[in-house]
Amino acid sequence: MPLTAAASAREILVRLHDVMAARSSAQAKLDAVARIIGEALDSEVCSIYLLREGLLELYATRGLDQAAVHVTKLALGEGLVGTIAKNVETLNLDEAASHPDFAYRPETGEDEFHSFAGVPIIRRERAVGVLAVQHAEPRKYDDVEIEALQTVAMVLSELIANAGLIDQRGDGATRPQSTAATRLEGLKLVEGMAIGHAVYHQPRITIEHTVAEDIEAERHRVYAAFDKMREQIDRMAQQAEFGLDGEHEEVLETYKMFAYDEGWSRRINEAIDSGLTAEAAIERVQQRTRMRMRQIGDPLLQDRMHDLEDLSNRLLRIVSGQMGTAAQLGLRQDTILIARNLGPAELLEYDRRRLKGVVLEEGSLTAHVTIVARAMGVPVLGRVRGVRQTIADGDLLLLDVTEAGSVLVRPSAAMEEAFDAKLLVRQKRRAAFAALKSEAPVTLDGDRLTVMVNAGLRDDVAALDVTGADGIGLFRTEFQFLVSATLPQRERQLRLYKDVLDAAGDKPVVFRTVDIGGDKALPYLNHHDEDEENPAMGWRALRLALERGGLMKAQARALIEAAAGRTLNVMFPMVSEAWELDEAKALFEAQREWLGKRGKRLPTEIRYGAMLEVPALAEQLDLLLPNIQFLSVGTNDLTQFLFAADRANPKLAERYDWLSPSILRFLRRVVTPCNEAGVALTVCGEMGGRPLEAMALIALGIERLSITPAAVGPIKAMVRSLDRGKAMRFMDELLARPPRGLRAALAGWAAENHVELA
Ligand code: PEP
Ligand code: MG
Repeated sequence: MPLTAAASAREILVRLHDVMAARSSAQAKLDAVARIIGEALDSEVCSIYLLREGLLELYATRGLDQAAVHVTKLALGEGLVGTIAKNVETLNLDEAASHPDFAYRPETGEDEFHSFAGVPIIRRERAVGVLAVQHAEPRKYDDVEIEALQTVAMVLSELIANAGLIDQRGDGATRPQSTAATRLEGLKLVEGMAIGHAVYHQPRITIEHTVAEDIEAERHRVYAAFDKMREQIDRMAQQAEFGLDGEHEEVLETYKMFAYDEGWSRRINEAIDSGLTAEAAIERVQQRTRMRMRQIGDPLLQDRMHDLEDLSNRLLRIVSGQMGTAAQLGLRQDTILIARNLGPAELLEYDRRRLKGVVLEEGSLTAHVTIVARAMGVPVLGRVRGVRQTIADGDLLLLDVTEAGSVLVRPSAAMEEAFDAKLLVRQKRRAAFAALKSEAPVTLDGDRLTVMVNAGLRDDVAALDVTGADGIGLFRTEFQFLVSATLPQRERQLRLYKDVLDAAGDKPVVFRTVDIGGDKALPYLNHHDEDEENPAMGWRALRLALERGGLMKAQARALIEAAAGRTLNVMFPMVSEAWELDEAKALFEAQREWLGKRGKRLPTEIRYGAMLEVPALAEQLDLLLPNIQFLSVGTNDLTQFLFAADRANPKLAERYDWLSPSILRFLRRVVTPCNEAGVALTVCGEMGGRPLEAMALIALGIERLSITPAAVGPIKAMVRSLDRGKAMRFMDELLARPPRGLRAALAGWAAENHVELA
């Protein structure tokens, strides 16, 4: 008797519930399931194939020859069953033999059967087996029956996982595309190589129970979870409006649309009606959507699918009470973290010893999460497509962010060997760079340049010794704020600054006052009560600090006290007009006086500096330079404003080149006034850490760089192989009449002149 309603699926699940609860063996349970399904669908045949050692083995059958059990084995992609598993798709055929993938297996005696329907048994988006029914009469199974089969497949997935029957080879299973090693390409964000196991930042929930004990209770659980999820999404949307969250507006809109989508909640409810637990029902609906989307294959819809996956996982986490990110759950082994995108604070939550690399579906070169990862020495590959379809939790990954960025998923032994060999070469090269530690960055024509490091975390100071750098040219004080759950009080700030100065010894440290706002939002600092459409150009950094005088005062006191008896170098971010610097400086001076009056020991000298990040400031250098001792160009922000191209927008990540006439000409214009005013000019953006770009900066007349520690060796090597005078002459010619491919022209010149570009 064919099924007519979800109630019938429920009857099957009630019977399966008893099977699952019985104390019998896994084989007996599978036999019972085959019998129950066969009977319920009135099918002559019901068979269960499980993936074992890479092959689909007939594990239980009602209707086929019993002698074929554990004998018939199909490769992935072989026959109808193999095709279902390989593609993770459902097949429903009234005439099986006419399907191009049909493969006849005489030992099963299946030649009498015409119709065929099969569904994959899925665990973590991969097929771990196949459930198939066959009929002597040619007939197509109707939708309700297929639905019932798919629901039963979920229960089977639980059964075989509990019985330890998940194929252990390569973590057990096949993926939608293939089981073979796969290479995914991406954008090089932070250089490096790493081996590790995939861990999703937002862990997928493993469903433990699929069959509901109490349908009403499950329904309530799902209602409550929906309410909570909608609340969360509304809050996120609200925060985004107030510039407190970097989450993309478009994504939030889509989230909102799905969160309130009646169809989605109705389908989940229907799945609960059929006897599934809330978790299994959510997953069941998601599986069905995934299959549909795969069939449609529209890239636009695929993007939407991505959002729905996110939301579905969120709902699952809420309903199962498993709310934490992978960081909160703790990493157990060498990890390569996978995320759509991350905030800098989220990344900082991870244990640096276990976090070996990051793969992002989005990401851009100068987003703060990238800078934080660089500071942590963690390679990052960005803008990787097809991550979720290809990488499963626990997969072994070889992350190679060197020449072209790629990640190898489930590598073969030969690939691992080749990777190790490359890693060795790289380590040797790094050792050669490390040997430059005690060599000064002197050009071939005898100019001693200054190479400093960027830092932000307490441990970064160690980089001074490791690299032999000349000092810390940029200490991003906001990192302490980002890693903290609450606003760091003055005492905590003071302790950090003092530790940093102590560790740096004689070498100078330039503390930049907090640069928060933009993509460095602090959840605990309710810093805006108006909409902010462009937080990067909004109320951030010095703008915020000048208005929130209390914040800057506390920081000023902490810095002044920490530098007692030594030189304090303070730098202000995002100065847009000269008077802003004057105000900031006045605030510091007032604190110096205040502390002095209270008998505190003061710094021997306070040196002030500004960051040149807002192009407008370049037009006020005559007003600014007399009041500062140093100027530091933040090319990350400067270029985003010069090109009007959001530094965190992945779509623009590759659009503009640092080696463009606009940037180089802009920077050249700044060099002379600084020299004339006796103001030390440094470049502290990411640009300076790239050998070719650094060569260009030096050719413009810039003598000081502050860069990521890992770049010190390669930059020193470049400097020591460079004839600066010659480079400056070439740059003059180049900028007089810039060719279209300025980068290629510079690279060509470097090669001709044997400049070492790592
Ligand atoms: C810059 O903008 O180049 C810079 C160094 O500051 P941050 O990257 O922290 O904004
Ligand atoms: Mg900046």
